[in-house]
Amino acid sequence: MPPVPKPTSDHYDMIVIGGGSGAMGVSRRAAYYGKKVCVIEEDGRLGGTCVNVGCVPKKLMWHAADIAEKLKEAPEYGFGDSVDKPKVPGFEWKYFAEKRDAYVRRLNGIYDRNLDKDGVEYISGHGKLVGKNEVEITMRGEDGQMNAGTHRIRGDAIVIATGGRPVIPSDDKIPGASLGINSDGFFALREQPKRVVVVGAGYIAVELAGVFHTLGSETHLLIRHDKFLRPFDPILHDTIAEYMDKTGLQVHKSTNITKVSGGNGKPLQIETDKGETIEADCLLWAIGRRPNTDNLGLEDVGVKTDEGGNIVVDKYQVTNIPNIFSIGDVQGKALLTPVAIAAGRKLSNRLYGHSDLKDDHMDYDNIPTVIFSHPPSGTVGLSEEEAYKKFGKDQVTVHQTKFVAMYYGMLEHKAPSAYKLVVGPGDKVVGLHIVGLGVDEMLQGFAVAVKMGATTRDFIETCNIHPVAGEELTSMV
Ligand code: FAD
Ligand code: NDP
Repeated sequence: MPPVPKPTSDHYDMIVIGGGSGAMGVSRRAAYYGKKVCVIEEDGRLGGTCVNVGCVPKKLMWHAADIAEKLKEAPEYGFGDSVDKPKVPGFEWKYFAEKRDAYVRRLNGIYDRNLDKDGVEYISGHGKLVGKNEVEITMRGEDGQMNAGTHRIRGDAIVIATGGRPVIPSDDKIPGASLGINSDGFFALREQPKRVVVVGAGYIAVELAGVFHTLGSETHLLIRHDKFLRPFDPILHDTIAEYMDKTGLQVHKSTNITKVSGGNGKPLQIETDKGETIEADCLLWAIGRRPNTDNLGLEDVGVKTDEGGNIVVDKYQVTNIPNIFSIGDVQGKALLTPVAIAAGRKLSNRLYGHSDLKDDHMDYDNIPTVIFSHPPSGTVGLSEEEAYKKFGKDQVTVHQTKFVAMYYGMLEHKAPSAYKLVVGPGDKVVGLHIVGLGVDEMLQGFAVAVKMGATTRDFIETCNIHPVAGEELTSMV
């Protein structure tokens, strides 16, 4: 259902600013408990980052890249006319991008209908706090412009779920930096760049560099230190870096861009502090995100933020003002869709649910996460270093293995698998870090075991499944 042309009431039990993952979780759960709820979204479509310019279109691009890999391997599995000269069909970027975006639009419609079905009011506009219980909405008109006037509404609870956006360096700092795009720009590309420079060392840099490279773009990944994915256990970096090296994705270590020129139809000239100039058709900055707190009225109402601009909350998602809450990326912790959704649902459970839910809150420990790298990687719990720090080196045992999954066994081209278990006091598995074919789908189940406090004994007492890569994890100890 389309958004309402103006708020239907001047008072709500809960007002949610933002219409992304967190907002969906908190608003729909509050409505389930019979509360009068509205969601204010300024983008003109629901779903937020994940649906529109994040997880969903990214995963589809990753699937496309995965198919490109399988097509290269298919001749050795007996498909195609020539094993020696496999003919891999070209990738039609524009066709796929349009199909992908049509799917995203379908999801936007599903989100509209879900809110409508649950009785959550969807208001299209920009929300701003003007009091501890009051929000001003600058309405989006039918022409898509923010010109449909303002309305003020009051709410007993106000939830800030405004997410974040990508940062790029200023042109003052790096001349020509704005000739580059960010992850939003990646999804706007209608043509595959032949040569790409990706800057950054986190999830997005590794994932998008992997997609470009696997789909056939000459890809350079520029990192300012000597490793990427530094917050994770090094088994992830080491295994992925080795594969990048083997497949020709060029990682430039300890390298910073000093100047960018060209553009407007000409190739970009990207100069680095190593004295080299890389010519490329696309420069993509993936150097982090900042919270969406502009023009939100936080200062006027006195909502506290930290030095990074993230809204400060306690473990119950409460800000320093008791009826104002914040969930998801804008509170700066564990920037992941399922975390935003769960934190939102738990907040509504606690506020409006049965008495046994009065302490419900998001547990930020042992959050499993997958990086859609090539090969994919996943992690839950403590890295080896974190476990040493927490328990002391003598209390920690590490088990690891590196192998080639059977799928690659008889192929010329092989991708590595590497698994690590970090075991703490009481034989408990406190960290599980996996890279290789299929680990993206494998991690969820193992995350349940780690969350439940499984010991290595539980792992080895679990009968293996054969032949799958996951059986390595239940027979490592
Ligand atoms: P968002 O989803 O960003 O929603 C916030 C919404 O608030 C936006 O729609 C914005 O327009 C709106 N808004 C902002 N200010 C206002 C205002 N003042 N008034 C009204 N509306 C406002 N996470 C995963 O778990 N798995 C993945 O594979 C994954 N891949 C990702 C890939 C990329 C490229 C990116 C960028 C992110 C990815 N993420 C992934 C992270 C995930 O997208 C976010 O953690 C998640 O979307 C956060 O949800 P949120 O509700 O906090 O914010
Ligand atoms: P991240 O914060 O994860 O990574 C950005 C990294 O870039 C930094 O850690 C830093 O690494 C490096 N960096 C920072 N500034 C600079 C600079 N000036 N020049 C060069 N490198 C720099 O941000 P992302 O944008 O990758 O992703 C944002 C969040 O979105 C992620 O943290 C994740 O929570 C979520 N996400 C989740 C995904 C998933 O679940 N699969 C996929 C994509 C995003 P270093 O210090 O090592 O240089």
